[in-house]
Amino acid sequence: VDLYEKSLVDRISHKDLISILSCQDEVKLDSIFKNAYQVKSHFVGRKVFLRGLVECSNICALDCYYCGIRKSIKSVPRYRMSSKEVVQGAVESWKNNYGSVVIQGGEISSPEFSDYIENILKEIRQVTGGELGITLSLGEQSEETYARWREAGAHRYLLRIESSNPELFASLHPPKQQFDTRLEALALLKKTGYQVGTGVLIGVPGQTVEDLAGDLEFFREIDVDMIGMGPFIPHALTPMKDAIPDFEQRKEEQLLLGVKMIAAARLLLRDVNIASTTALETLSSDGRNRGLLAGANVVMPNVTDPGYKVSYTLYDGKPGTGQTSDEGRINLEKSIASIGESIGYGEWGDSRHYFNRISAADNC
Ligand code: SAH
Repeated sequence: VDLYEKSLVDRISHKDLISILSCQDEVKLDSIFKNAYQVKSHFVGRKVFLRGLVECSNICALDCYYCGIRKSIKSVPRYRMSSKEVVQGAVESWKNNYGSVVIQGGEISSPEFSDYIENILKEIRQVTGGELGITLSLGEQSEETYARWREAGAHRYLLRIESSNPELFASLHPPKQQFDTRLEALALLKKTGYQVGTGVLIGVPGQTVEDLAGDLEFFREIDVDMIGMGPFIPHALTPMKDAIPDFEQRKEEQLLLGVKMIAAARLLLRDVNIASTTALETLSSDGRNRGLLAGANVVMPNVTDPGYKVSYTLYDGKPGTGQTSDEGRINLEKSIASIGESIGYGEWGDSRHYFNRISAADNC
């Protein structure tokens, strides 16, 4: 089957998604990834957009069962960067010509936290003359807070649904964290005018290929602009530390499932931005490039100060914790050049899908 042709005429079916996600044949997989890459070239080009990632705080009010910065873990040193340090990370991204920054952190909802982020956004806008694109990834917040941050200069927001199957979602989160609340937050983000990104954990216990296909169809249904998703990697201090027996032997399997999800997402959603996430890189040194070759077009080099980075351990083995961001940048450039892609230096690299959906809305 020519998935590229099918994708162009918008006919990737549920059955196609299932067969992509369950494919084990190397030759067929190779062809699937090539088709997805063709779709990427057609709709968004062969260019990688960069976002410097600043992990501003690991203080979190939530208690997600999989996450290494969940509230219940007492032995992780908690930090919150000063506004100045976050702005420094953004300025570093700007000077490196990354085009954009992502400010990510544990989830705190308080007027004080809203002010903290708002001030940072204003400061970044001022220092960079509005040249730097800004994405936030700070969890569920009120409409007012989302609107204030949007007004202060953030224009993209990442909030993963983690699983679009409410039962699976419930198995990954304490009862206080509700699926519906997360859905509402995604709707608020759209309403307040962000380019909205979401994603899921891939390869969690109890998850089927039907669930994963459902996740992809969910992305289409809520019409998201960006996708950030990655394989689940157990963290030793969480309740899910032993969720995948023999994890060491199953890294390739996890990674492959993550790459298949990227390919399937590209074939189905076509003009969205898709990140090749750190989790892929954690599982293998070529993970990030495999993501790019299967349809991803965004990479987020970490620009968090190494002193803080060591405490932002969402999962075990997160890479680059001992490397400065300069070393990271040089390695990244070489590695992206090696697969024949170029970097969109200095570009915001906004989601084409966002502009397509906005102009479609204007026309009716
Ligand atoms: N608190 C913010 C962002 C921080 S966590 C928010 O809620 O959006 C960012 C992402 O890391 C999460 O959405 C989750 O999908 C991912 N993550 C957390 N623990 C993980 C693990 N053990 N393996 C893989 N990904 C994980």
